[in-house]
Amino acid sequence: MVNATSLDVAVVGAGFVGSLVAIKAAELGLSVRAFDLQAEYPPRFRAEKLETDQYEGLERLGLIDLVEPRGSPLVDQVVVFRGKTRKVVRCTKHRGMDYQATVNRLRAHLKTLAPLSIGPISKVEDTRQGTRITDAEGDAWTARLAVTATGASAFMRNALALKPPAPGTMISTSIGFFVRPETSGDFCMEAFNAYPSRFVPGLQYATFFPVGNETRVNVFTCWPPAGSEARAFRRDPIASLRRYFPVLDDAVGPMALSSTPQLVTTEYYRQNTDHLTSTVLVGDEYQSVSPATGMGISKCVTDAEVLTGLLPQLVKDPSARLDLSAFYNDPRKQVVDEKAHSSWAWSNNVSTDRSMGMRFKIAKQSLKGMLVQ
Ligand SMILES: Cc1cc2nc3c(=O)[nH]c(=O)nc-3n(C[C@H](O)[C@H](O)[C@H](O)COP(=O)(O)OP(=O)(O)OC[C@H]3O[C@@H](n4cnc5c(N)ncnc54)[C@H](O)[C@@H]3O)c2cc1C
Repeated sequence: MVNATSLDVAVVGAGFVGSLVAIKAAELGLSVRAFDLQAEYPPRFRAEKLETDQYEGLERLGLIDLVEPRGSPLVDQVVVFRGKTRKVVRCTKHRGMDYQATVNRLRAHLKTLAPLSIGPISKVEDTRQGTRITDAEGDAWTARLAVTATGASAFMRNALALKPPAPGTMISTSIGFFVRPETSGDFCMEAFNAYPSRFVPGLQYATFFPVGNETRVNVFTCWPPAGSEARAFRRDPIASLRRYFPVLDDAVGPMALSSTPQLVTTEYYRQNTDHLTSTVLVGDEYQSVSPATGMGISKCVTDAEVLTGLLPQLVKDPSARLDLSAFYNDPRKQVVDEKAHSSWAWSNNVSTDRSMGMRFKIAKQSLKGMLVQ
């Protein structure tokens, strides 16, 4: 067996949450190495904006200035259209984000603090003595704590004997693209959300917001990705917007498509990690989120903050191992994980269940001002 280099912390997957954790661990003075398959994060459809709690979490981590594009405007109000009614929702610290550019900027910062190995890993072995990571060249590292953040890769599921999602649980399908006003100039409002003008099973809402000087549209549904509605939306998003959200033509004017539409489906899972002793799962590796709930980055930031709060124990005692249950059972983490799950269930139910019982629940929630926006 090849001798392994010792590390305090190994982070597998230098995406959003992996980069945050690796940066904070390195700032504490721990010996850290991050690993990723690719040198550059690719242009994937992921979170395209920051909500207030996410912005504030990144401020607390001291990393808000790394969010791209740097000049994206702060939005202070979102106009919400429900049928013909409109409501103005005030907000603070709410802004568009280019996910790929932001992750690449976080990585660039990470590389000033700790090494980042690029290339496939062949083995991850979780043991009581630490987690051993072996790359494709046979080089090996043993970490007191391994943090896996590969966004639920098949490789990590196999390596750590994690269960695949149970079939038949919740799904979420999102269609994303950029638009511009059909005629020249800007839209008359910066950020707006539209709910369908009539009940369309599975259709949730569309959100329009500025990312840099472009307008991004994300449409959230729980349609099956191969179903006729999702395929029609992807084929001609402008015609589908007109069909399902007719109020927008009058309220903001006609739009034209300015990018290729992307369609992504996610399904619900939360991993059971009871069998792991020195490996912790963070971000989408641990639990998936519905994009419709806008909670993915909240989970990433919470995971990074909670874990970072536990790392000083590793600094204090060079022979210590982390009690992983302190991470999974942290009340802040449990609240955000549970909210991500219940908001997903709620948004799917609202868009698929027309029963009187459900209508009563929706009316009750609206009164409480708790309707998922
Ligand atoms: C369509 C869509 C829209 C969304 N919209 C929102 C939103 O508006 N607001 C919100 O808060 N959340 C949103 N989310 C959720 C949010 O984007 C995710 O929760 C978040 O991106 C997860 O980050 P992560 O760090 O776990 O994964 P990622 O950032 O994807 O990082 C995973 C990393 O692991 C690496 N990797 C993969 N396999 C391996 C391997 N075998 N070895 C080494 N490295 C590997 C990858 O290269 C990558 O760098 C959305 C999600 C989707 C899918």
